[in-house]
Amino acid sequence: MLVKVIQIMQSQLETGITMQQISEHVWIIPQNPDPWAVQPNVGVIILPDQTILVDAGNGPKQAQSIMRALIAMKVPPVRHVIYTHHHWDHTFGGDIYGANVIAHQRCYEHLQHQMTAPWSDEYIAERIAEQPELAQGFRALANAIDSWAYFRIRLPTMTFTKNLTFHFDTITLHLEHIGGQHADDSITVRVVEDSVLFVGDCFYPPIPPQRQPDDTLDAAILKQLLDDNISCYIDGHGEPFGEEGIHQRIEEAEKGK
Ligand SMILES: [Zn+2]
Repeated sequence: MLVKVIQIMQSQLETGITMQQISEHVWIIPQNPDPWAVQPNVGVIILPDQTILVDAGNGPKQAQSIMRALIAMKVPPVRHVIYTHHHWDHTFGGDIYGANVIAHQRCYEHLQHQMTAPWSDEYIAERIAEQPELAQGFRALANAIDSWAYFRIRLPTMTFTKNLTFHFDTITLHLEHIGGQHADDSITVRVVEDSVLFVGDCFYPPIPPQRQPDDTLDAAILKQLLDDNISCYIDGHGEPFGEEGIHQRIEEAEKGK
């Protein structure tokens, strides 16, 4: 463990990326608190022979700095990336890792559709002119991409519709479709032996332009997430939390209605 701590300190010095340990196998690269950056939490599951990411970073720039941090930490290579849902801030870094990508079948379809857009600064400027309410997201997206000429959406290489279980040497990963108002392809990722559940943005309100002023967190989805076997929940854009955090969010959702 001391060796790993020293490697992490070294990695932070070299790359400026901080990793936060959640459990024996699970770490996160915490979300950027600057709302204009739109950089969600990235899960890092470190196994003896491979590293698995939960979400890919919001673009090639963030993904490249994640790769540099992992290399400086001397962790095994990234072999699998799991997309919690198709939104750009969770998937647009996916092409950098050269890894298998696992996601819900609807995620594949959403991203396949997004691949047809003529991505460029001009396209983004046109979209902002058409829908000014999307300006913040589109500006953050433009900042996340160095060069549109080299940008490519990485489609999932393996998809599922209900659930999927991976048995690795030291852990079991259970992926389950949950859907919801935020994105119909949202999944949860359970690291069974570590009692950790990645939930992406599944209980969040819809995104603009679908969002309405009185939209709240999704109490029904939050209730579905409650599970005695989970000690830590990791969502897309907040701090990790426990069962109490689920109850607080349910209360918040029900007060807002
Ligand atoms: Zn989202």
